[in-house]
Amino acid sequence: MIGQCLCNEVRFKVSGQLPNFYQCHCSLCRKVTGSSANAGTIVNKESFEWLNGQENVSSFIKKTGYRVDFCKSCGSPVPNP
Ligand SMILES: [Zn+2]
Ligand SMILES: [Zn+2]
Repeated sequence: MIGQCLCNEVRFKVSGQLPNFYQCHCSLCRKVTGSSANAGTIVNKESFEWLNGQENVSSFIKKTGYRVDFCKSCGSPVPNP
């Protein structure tokens, strides 16, 4: 699967079969998406690679460890470790 942000600056690839996705409805995920839930999944590090734009990724990390990575240009959420 190839993923990309809204402005196409950040692109990444996940190899192999994707695991099931989950939705988190916590208050942080509702705020960060402006929606009722955040959709996510977890893949092995070996299955993931950046194709371009990794230097255009910024992180917001709360003291609790909650983390959101996003494209600096368009604000789209992107994968994080
Ligand atoms: Zn972007
Ligand atoms: Zn959440």
